[in-house]
Amino acid sequence: MTPTGRIQRERMARELAAQGIRDAAVLRAMQEVPRERFVEEALRGKAYSDAALPIGEKQTISQPWIVARTCELVEPDGTGRVLEVGTGSGYHAAVLARLFELVYTVERIPALSQRARQSLRSLRIENVHFKIFDGGYGWSEFAPYRAIVVTAAVPEVPTPLVEQLEEGGRLVAPVGPSADSAEQVLTRVVRSGGKNVVEEHGPCRFVPLRGKYGWDE
Ligand code: SAM
Repeated sequence: MTPTGRIQRERMARELAAQGIRDAAVLRAMQEVPRERFVEEALRGKAYSDAALPIGEKQTISQPWIVARTCELVEPDGTGRVLEVGTGSGYHAAVLARLFELVYTVERIPALSQRARQSLRSLRIENVHFKIFDGGYGWSEFAPYRAIVVTAAVPEVPTPLVEQLEEGGRLVAPVGPSADSAEQVLTRVVRSGGKNVVEEHGPCRFVPLRGKYGWDE
């Protein structure tokens, strides 16, 4: 970790706080995880701009603000299991690894999952488990989860994911009407007393989920 990276992350955390991120543990995690290690060399200079960046395979690493916001919305307290759907670069999983006891992350593109695994290993992050699969089905073997973060847009929240939440658990997903829609809404589902309480938390923009609970390629 270069001192320059540390200074840039401190600045990024201050900007995230100014943009409304309140959870101190989330801000700390964003300050600690070196985002430049999750993008290719040529893009490292842009690692701390608040923008999504390409990671190959027509996919992106999410912008820092949305990573922080989704983490905040699942209300981490340092314990429990979290499921991430859409490993991508592994950056979001690395942030979640500082906020939950165990992270389970599912990605459908093998090359991305393998690269993410290497990035986390090189940072000695050991509480993240990887699977290559259609994440719309979740990862039932380790359910129930205290939190689920879907990092690709879905037409509606996949039922298998909601079923894998523990009582009181929180799921956050971008929901939109079509694969290329600019009208996605960051949606939170809280499982409470056997019911699902659905809340909307503003517009967002993600690449689409593919597969059974998403859209065809
Ligand atoms: N969380 C990632 C990060 O920190 O870099 C960013 C994820 S990117 C916005 C969305 C990811 O979801 C892509 O890597 C894409 O391949 C993956 N994805 C799309 N459909 C999927 C599915 N059905 N199951 C698992 N992953 C999927």
